Amino acid sequence: MTSRTEIKIHQCECEACKAGSDLEIAQRHQQINLFLSRLNEPQRRWYVGLMSQQSDGPGDRQLSKITGLDEKTIRHGRHELESGLADLPHDRQRREGGGRPRAEKKIRR
Ligand SMILES: [Zn+2]
Repeated sequence: MTSRTEIKIHQCECEACKAGSDLEIAQRHQQINLFLSRLNEPQRRWYVGLMSQQSDGPGDRQLSKITGLDEKTIRHGRHELESGLADLPHDRQRREGGGRPRAEKKIRR
């Protein structure tokens, strides 16, 4: 495979990254954007929507700066997750496990 696709990685625009004050945060944000660059459109907003649900995580506005996604897009992704991605075709998603009765599910590790 020699096809080279140029992937544009968003440069985080949050205060910490712009100021270069916190390398750890900058690195994490860079990794988030690297990861996002490999996802397709809906996957991107689901992931960011997921991040926006963490109570100790960044809010929509902050996430928008970090990822370059619209706040509206982030909200949209969150709603899609809340509704169990019901509007989306299943054909390209892998289903794991058996029945998943509800969208609400606690992930414990
Ligand atoms: Zn940042």
